[in-house]
Amino acid sequence: MIDDAPESTAMADPANPDMPIEEFRRYGKTLIDWIADYLDNPRRYPVLASGQPGDLRRRLPPSAPIEGEPMERILQDFNQAIIPMVTHWNHPRFFAYFSISSSAPAILAELLTAALDVNAMLWKSCPAATELEQTTAAWMLDWLGLPSAWFGMIVDSASNSALQAVVAARQRAEPESRAAGLSGRLVAYVSEHTHSSVEKAAITAGIGRSNIRHIAVDAGFRMSAGALREAIRLDLSRNLKPFFAAATVGTTSSTAIDPVPGIAAICRENGLWLHVDGAYGGALGMLPECRHFLDGVDEADSFVVNPPKLMTVPLDCCLFYTRSPEVVRAAFALEAEYLKTDVRGAVDYMDYGVALGRRFRALKLWFVMRYFGREGLAAIFRRGLKMAAWLGEQVSGSDRFELAAPVNMGLVCFRSRQGDDATRELMNRINDGGAFFVSHTALNGRFTIRVAIGNIRTQWQDVEELWAAISKP
Ligand code: PLP
Repeated sequence: MIDDAPESTAMADPANPDMPIEEFRRYGKTLIDWIADYLDNPRRYPVLASGQPGDLRRRLPPSAPIEGEPMERILQDFNQAIIPMVTHWNHPRFFAYFSISSSAPAILAELLTAALDVNAMLWKSCPAATELEQTTAAWMLDWLGLPSAWFGMIVDSASNSALQAVVAARQRAEPESRAAGLSGRLVAYVSEHTHSSVEKAAITAGIGRSNIRHIAVDAGFRMSAGALREAIRLDLSRNLKPFFAAATVGTTSSTAIDPVPGIAAICRENGLWLHVDGAYGGALGMLPECRHFLDGVDEADSFVVNPPKLMTVPLDCCLFYTRSPEVVRAAFALEAEYLKTDVRGAVDYMDYGVALGRRFRALKLWFVMRYFGREGLAAIFRRGLKMAAWLGEQVSGSDRFELAAPVNMGLVCFRSRQGDDATRELMNRINDGGAFFVSHTALNGRFTIRVAIGNIRTQWQDVEELWAAISKP
């Protein structure tokens, strides 16, 4: 397919090297139709990519074309070479990791984002991008009932948000470190179930892996506040400097909710920066019946909620909040002559994180918030929560399986009563069948299947048939 295609016809007009506008219009319509068909019937594809590592590399030429190629040929290869190697996160039977999906209004917004291709590094470099970022961040705080005075911004990922939090905490604890480097005495606290990205952030920030404590969890996989207090006491007695703790609302393995009020009190007493990771579970706080998930979060120094995880916003778009933007700014801002502006009284977001070039991510969030509204998103969330609760009931009512954690959000963790090998075999049988994709974790050292429900296109029938596949004798 790739070797037999005709010669290129691209770049016919050297004065206008871009694709001719009529061609753009034609292919734009073709691609919108492709996307519409895809969203209308993603089930036509197997959820998991087929093939082996290296298959696509072998199929594609080893070097890029010297001459441009016609769109037909690019699209043909997209369909025939790329798509078979795609794992379809937008598939209604994608139940792995945190099953995320993009809604149609968000996809349309992405199109506009690419067309505008602005850089939200400075207010001046695109005032609309900065101010829409401020607006959507503030709207979300309002929906979640969190302090309206918090500073909000959009970062690519929860991982980089964690990095911002750790670096800000480092700045507050050792302001001199910015000039002189670290003392080596700072200690960070995560739980055994904190997402690995927080530890990675601490490693990246130079805290040193030996200065990261993994606090024990209770039977519900929640960080033990007592163990945290004891660990801090011990580190202080060794002349170390506890400076940062992360609590999670909706852990990755089991959607446990750490006891944030108790952890916040300990952090306050000991002067630690408290980062609350609500990447997955935070958004559920907009449901009145789930608002208690966010108890104590208003005491955090920083907080994240990641709209791609539940809110149907395509990757990437993570809301990062802090009560202390001046500390974040002190950690990251660095003046370069070519970036100075004469604008006063505006936020230049490049001063609050690592990245200079920043996509106009707020646009897709704004489209989603406006198109669905809070009630529309609440309805989407509730449907997923109900499906997860139903699946959890099937599991707990069966004598072959057991729940490995309570179903409090859109995640069902379970295992075979026959042990790890049987659970692993079951997962492989489900995934090898090609109809579903589920993933796994370890809970209490035991292999556990995770079924994450949250895809906007998942129907009841998908969940019922998943249960039929699980419970098949
Ligand atoms: N925090 C939690 C609770 C997560 O579940 C994840 C990813 O699933 C992350 C952080 C990291 O998110 P990101 O992929 O945006 O870096």
